[in-house]
Amino acid sequence: MPPGPTWLQIWLEAGREGRIFTYANPLGLPLASGDLVRLKLRGRRHVGLVVEGLERLPPELDPDRLQPVEGLHQSAAVDPHWRALLSEVAADCHTSLFKTLKTALPPGWLGQRPERQGGPARNRWLVELTPGADATGPSSSALTPRQQSLLELLEQRGGRAWLSTLTTAERFSRSVVEGLERQGQLRRRAVAAGSAEFMTLQAAGVAAVDGTAGTLEPPQAPSAAQRQALERLAATPPGGALLLWGVTGSGKTEVYLQACALALAEGQSALVLTPEIGLVPQLLDRFKARFASSIVEYHSGLSEAQRIASWRRCLEADRAQPVVVVGTRSAVFLPLRDLALIVLDEEHDSSYKQDAPMPCYHARDVARHRARRSGARLLLGSATPSLETWLACQQSGPGATALVRLPERIGQRPLPPVRVVDMRQELAEGHRRLISRPLMERLERLREQGEQAVVLVPRRGYSSFLSCRSCGEVVQCPHCDVALTVHRSVRSGDWLRCHWCDHRQDIEPRCGACGSTAFKPFGAGTQRVMEQLSNELEDLRVLRFDRDTTRGQGGHRRLLEQFAAGEADVLVGTQMLAKGMDLPAVTLAAVLAADGLLHRPDLRSSEQSLQLLLQLAGRAGRGERAGEVLVQTYCPDHAVIRHLVDGRYERFLEQELEIRRQAGLVPFSRAALLRLVGVSASATATAATTLAERIAPQVLSAGWVMVGPAPAPITRVAGRSRWQLLLHGPSGSPLPLPPEAELRQGLPKGVGLAIDPDPLEL
Ligand code: ADP
Ligand code: ZN
Ligand code: ZN
Repeated sequence: MPPGPTWLQIWLEAGREGRIFTYANPLGLPLASGDLVRLKLRGRRHVGLVVEGLERLPPELDPDRLQPVEGLHQSAAVDPHWRALLSEVAADCHTSLFKTLKTALPPGWLGQRPERQGGPARNRWLVELTPGADATGPSSSALTPRQQSLLELLEQRGGRAWLSTLTTAERFSRSVVEGLERQGQLRRRAVAAGSAEFMTLQAAGVAAVDGTAGTLEPPQAPSAAQRQALERLAATPPGGALLLWGVTGSGKTEVYLQACALALAEGQSALVLTPEIGLVPQLLDRFKARFASSIVEYHSGLSEAQRIASWRRCLEADRAQPVVVVGTRSAVFLPLRDLALIVLDEEHDSSYKQDAPMPCYHARDVARHRARRSGARLLLGSATPSLETWLACQQSGPGATALVRLPERIGQRPLPPVRVVDMRQELAEGHRRLISRPLMERLERLREQGEQAVVLVPRRGYSSFLSCRSCGEVVQCPHCDVALTVHRSVRSGDWLRCHWCDHRQDIEPRCGACGSTAFKPFGAGTQRVMEQLSNELEDLRVLRFDRDTTRGQGGHRRLLEQFAAGEADVLVGTQMLAKGMDLPAVTLAAVLAADGLLHRPDLRSSEQSLQLLLQLAGRAGRGERAGEVLVQTYCPDHAVIRHLVDGRYERFLEQELEIRRQAGLVPFSRAALLRLVGVSASATATAATTLAERIAPQVLSAGWVMVGPAPAPITRVAGRSRWQLLLHGPSGSPLPLPPEAELRQGLPKGVGLAIDPDPLEL
């Protein structure tokens, strides 16, 4: 290792926001951004985060007065690629390296207690059975079941394993290990990474034994199309990208699995990103069944300690013990060396975009940078690719994205036909129910046929809003500029709730505007649809799948398992229904009130609603029996509905691109959004105006246009005022803005600023 930097900028958790201090590095420790170091501040011990190394000191600092760092606490930076990646993201997102580091590192990383672990060499804890101690002997009755199974596992594995493997892949808590240590059943010792003993252990197969425990699910024999996809991936140059465009059920996941297996076989790691882990437990299950303890999870369903453990396992991964990470957005920053492959499943999904806090990054862009820097290949998978990725496939040259298709479902199962129910017609014929006659007929026969249905309702709760019958006043949230949603509970009747700030209240007996006592609920939520279904079809067993019924860890999984086990005939749910579920008995996918999805005033509204509807359609007919999609709408002629019926998504992309080209919209131009938030409405408005005046000269002279400042579409949320400034400029041109810190300087206290360099919603 080269000697470390002479000076270090270090962030310390002093005060509410923390502060950056400059320290000396007299020992020449090889430190870099992301490392945690031990040091003293005003005589007290701290752990600080290295933000940057400096070779030259700013003139105002006196080198003789700087305190030294005392040692490394935890190393985070694995290679120069990783740090360069963070700097690139910081620059792209117009924010500091420090903020980017904070987003990249696991939550709780900075609050850790110092460990007894010295020197810059990383240690790994090896857990060994104590020779001579007998786990099955008479004293074993004193063991807990977890302790018993840990000992059995160690015996199966030749008596030893890395502690990190036991606590992450095998999910033993440290207290189980420590308990056994106290009883003398096993012992734990540190092995310096890279030491001779470490290498001998690796060679002796401690790693290999870790990786092959249990029975693994064998790969499927790939179809011709899948084989072609794998060949195309292998032919993609390192650092390049490939779009795997396959209809739902065409075997994309199997391609990811086999591509990961190839990476592992070469001693390299793979990173698999998925929009949401809670919603698609099946994806994680399939990866675990295939790769067992080589899998590292990283998502918000894990505790802070588990996330830190996952981070450490990534640091420890090497050619002898490569890993497959399965995680959500922020997993794109995990510190992996020897990275061969990045998979972005459902690459079009908007949850890859972080809106707040800064950096407002898109995991797809970060993954592109990362693949390029580390020579990995990027595999983007989708049934409904984003316009951006599809456009990248049209380009030629070395940076272009390659394209390979999986045109058919596995087993040549047909894609389900789409039937549109014109709700205007239903109304004209005197049927004013939420559930149309054609849908009712299908649901009536469902149970006797042993089939299942999913029904999408865009909103949760009982009804969308409550209004006064006399004056039309809609009951609003006291903290936000939105209507309150009606929820119904068996015990306490109807009550109101805000879906933006979670405010809850009872229904007032009288209208606040006119004093009338008559209210009427409008718009149907999941609860109301369930109620109607149960009233009209008594035999039908219905389950609800939305944020209210899936709270808590494993909530999604529990409901999906109930449904998969046939405990219900119909699953009524919100958008989350459309994601990833693969259930062979589902033959019907229905959408009530598709109109709720179609009419959002947003650049990407058509694209996103068509993606959602096609994804939902993909849930039907995945098994032996043919499926059908049924869409209820008042606008059967809407372009999105027409493209849904045609099933020609590519045609939609062509038209959408043409519309944007003619209007000069993104991606034919570039947009950036400055968002201001503050408790005081007037202070926020003034700050927005002042900021606009301040940046106007630079923005205009760069040939950009400024729209606003204006209040955000929903101006008040959770009692805070929101203003925005939209900047529009030529595509590919840099943001015409001073550095973030300078922008912030002129803002009054209490007004926050976020810069989004490429907002998804405009
Ligand atoms: P997608 O990710 O495109 O929705 P999946 O990979 O989940 O598709 O495949 C759909 C179904 O087909 C799954 O049940 C999967 O196990 C099965 N499958 C995938 N590839 C094969 C194959 N080569 N042979 C047999 N079955 C397969
Ligand atoms: Zn009224
Ligand atoms: Zn609210």
